[in-house]
Amino acid sequence: MTQYCIKCRRPVEGESCPICGRKKLRPITGEDACFLTELKEPWSDVLAEILTQEDIPVLRQGAAGVGLAAEIGMFPERHQFFVPYACLEKGQALAEAFFSGNYAGENE
Ligand SMILES: [Zn+2]
Repeated sequence: MTQYCIKCRRPVEGESCPICGRKKLRPITGEDACFLTELKEPWSDVLAEILTQEDIPVLRQGAAGVGLAAEIGMFPERHQFFVPYACLEKGQALAEAFFSGNYAGENE
């Protein structure tokens, strides 16, 4: 069964999180926010709009946010995207299409 690491906010297959090593995992639910991708402006705005149009509730954290944003304050223009686990697969497909499509080459 897929578990959820509340620290990394990612689905985990197995007994411990491969990223932080945490073993206190719990079964994932459809509402759990999962890390999708990280983008900088203005691409983050474009992707947010694409996801919203597909009825995927997107949670975006960046320099203007709180908490986590303070930890990643060294990258002020970057936004991290989280979507509910139930929408993760669709979100990943959209993000992939986004990255491989007309928007490719955004990394300078
Ligand atoms: Zn973790």
